[in-house]
Amino acid sequence: MKRLKVKRELVLAALLFGSIMHAAAQETKVRWFGHSAFSITTPNGKVLLIDPWLNNPLNPEAKDGKDPLAAVPKVDYILLTHGHRDHVGDAVEVARKTGAVLICNPELAGNLVKLVDFPAKQAQTDGIMQIGGEIQIADGEVTIAMTAAVHSSSVFNPKAGPNEPERAYGGSPAGFVIIIKNGPTIYHSGDTAYFKDMETIGESYSIDVALINISGMGPKMSAKAAQSIRAKLVIPHHFGTFAGLLQNADGFAAEVKRLKIGLYQMQPGETILFRGKQMIKAK
Ligand SMILES: [Zn+2]
Repeated sequence: MKRLKVKRELVLAALLFGSIMHAAAQETKVRWFGHSAFSITTPNGKVLLIDPWLNNPLNPEAKDGKDPLAAVPKVDYILLTHGHRDHVGDAVEVARKTGAVLICNPELAGNLVKLVDFPAKQAQTDGIMQIGGEIQIADGEVTIAMTAAVHSSSVFNPKAGPNEPERAYGGSPAGFVIIIKNGPTIYHSGDTAYFKDMETIGESYSIDVALINISGMGPKMSAKAAQSIRAKLVIPHHFGTFAGLLQNADGFAAEVKRLKIGLYQMQPGETILFRGKQMIKAK
């Protein structure tokens, strides 16, 4: 009888320990580096880096001559919404350093390999996709859907001669829906104007967190974008980085509040945590 009781307590302790470990393993981390650059760490520890301009002036890791790449030792996937330099950013260096696989459209991938020496092997995988496509990565833990964006896209060609265009074709600009098992479904808008088919994205996916670029649309339309996406929580990006962009998210915040949508304004360098689909705390 006594032995049985001890056994039972051991089992209970093991169950409790297991559930604590399980809870820790259920956390998804989202980090903002400033501009449109985010990393997502899944519950199983896979790291996705989106539009990795880590050397942007807002990133605290890039200030005072620091090497921002030192802060991202592990990256499994690099997601690019389009070819503009403020989104491709440090993708080539990150890919070389980490071996990360590229996820973007084939024209952008091809020209990044040809014109700026992106590692070819990492740009020739199942991660190459088109708008409307869905792929599974990270051993099935993450599903990526590529969605439309209304913008332009080109790859800067440093090898262009004096009579050649300095911008090469970058395919269609895009956004991403990132569905994480035991984690949130995250929408990254890329760099887009408002378009009414955002409503279809909102109907097709249950978006927990929308990362919305606010400068391309302005406060009113970017808040409308968050509404069309049916975001439960919205986080603004693509502002305050350089002249010509919106310098803060105040107008956006006011509009989002008026529409009664949950808002969280991240600071550059900040990491937020999700347990399941719920944001639990800022870190
Ligand atoms: Zn752009």
